[in-house]
Amino acid sequence: LSDKLQGAFSKLKSKGKLTEKDVKAAMREVKLALLEADVNFKVVKDFVKKVQERCVGQEVMESLTPAQHVIKIVNEELTALMGDVQSKITISSKPPTIIMMVGLQGAGKTTTSGKLGGYFKKQGKKPLLVACDVYRPAAIKQLEVVGSSLGIEVFNMGDKENPVNIAKAGLSHAMKNNNDLVIIDTAGRLHIDEELMDELKSIKSEVKPHEILLVVDSMTGQDAVNVAESFDNALGIDGVVLTKLDGDTRGGAALSIRAVTQKPIKFIGMGEKLDDLEPFHPDRMASRILGMGDVLSLIEKAQETMDMEKAKALGAKLKKQEFDFEDFLDQMEQIQKMGSMDKILGMIPGMGDIKNQLGDVDMNGKEMNRVKAIIQSMTIEERRNPQILNASRKRRIAKGSGTSVQEVNKLVKQLNEMKKMMKMFTSNSKGMKKRGGFP
Ligand code: GDP
Ligand code: MG
Repeated sequence: LSDKLQGAFSKLKSKGKLTEKDVKAAMREVKLALLEADVNFKVVKDFVKKVQERCVGQEVMESLTPAQHVIKIVNEELTALMGDVQSKITISSKPPTIIMMVGLQGAGKTTTSGKLGGYFKKQGKKPLLVACDVYRPAAIKQLEVVGSSLGIEVFNMGDKENPVNIAKAGLSHAMKNNNDLVIIDTAGRLHIDEELMDELKSIKSEVKPHEILLVVDSMTGQDAVNVAESFDNALGIDGVVLTKLDGDTRGGAALSIRAVTQKPIKFIGMGEKLDDLEPFHPDRMASRILGMGDVLSLIEKAQETMDMEKAKALGAKLKKQEFDFEDFLDQMEQIQKMGSMDKILGMIPGMGDIKNQLGDVDMNGKEMNRVKAIIQSMTIEERRNPQILNASRKRRIAKGSGTSVQEVNKLVKQLNEMKKMMKMFTSNSKGMKKRGGFP
């Protein structure tokens, strides 16, 4: 998905103006990418339509390229689609809070029951796990293993008892034992069937859970949507836990589950270990789906601080290989305003390799201030023509900046390195453009 989307955006990148045709072309690819990622067809259609409308109707911000503007809108809409804010578990004012875990077999209910128990135990709660899966062989044992490794009590009545009775008995046990959180691990099926739903409905009406959490395997793609819809229609769910997002799944399920059921995704499972549970953040998920690093925060930061005119002038100078200490100083000030060089390069898609080449050019904090002091101790002439820096000039500069001649030499070397590097990128005509360099 990420590659596809990046492809769609890179096509926009080189264009100056965003026409309706451009937006449509890009959106066609976004659409294909989303469908390929198993996002529900209707969700894709609505999404694309909405973004398209917003893009075409809007004036492109002056400091953004049209493509950046489209990225911004796509990201915003993606985030909105998955719920703007992170949803929490409802904690009952009258304990215990009862959470009922439901879902298909293998989705991760038992594992997630344990993870949730551990999550809330860390927050000072005293959870009880209730083993209501009497069908799957060794399901009770599995929950007990999970519970004992977390130091959480597990309530079970063996596999001969009716799950509804186990849930009820588990609840009374919790009241007696001052458990303020009860997590009911129920049975799943390979497919949705009447019998399973009836059993879950009975448990629901007997124990009246505060939260019914549907556990969905994110790798099941389009199926996840059908599952979420069926469970919600039959039982009424309050939220979703999306598991196995640590794999190479494309996140399409997150997108459509929320849109189709209107129920929030509350947690995500990021691994088999019992602490691999994270609250769901729609904005992070959107970035993950877009797979473009932190492009948006880069755009925002750039908007705030980058002097576009200066940047343009610098770009022109670079092409002519005229990069000198004045530019160096200017550039450093821009960069310091924006955060570290590392961070900035990391935020631009495809710039990772450049970051590696920069390697030992330390552009951060203290080092940068010393460099600034050195340049500021130079005369304008010296800044513009570094080749005139002889031994006596260097000594004067070192003294003036409170550094050493070695440090001045090091900086001169760095400027030359940078020049070389710039030359490499600008002479490799495809270089910067293909990488989506900025500005
Ligand atoms: P249940 O049938 O719904 O109770 O599912 P289980 O809790 O038994 O989980 C089924 C399998 O999925 C087990 O092997 C778990 O270790 C695995 N699993 C659950 N959650 C995750 C997750 O977030 N990431 C990964 N990689 N595996 C998970
Ligand atoms: Mg289970």
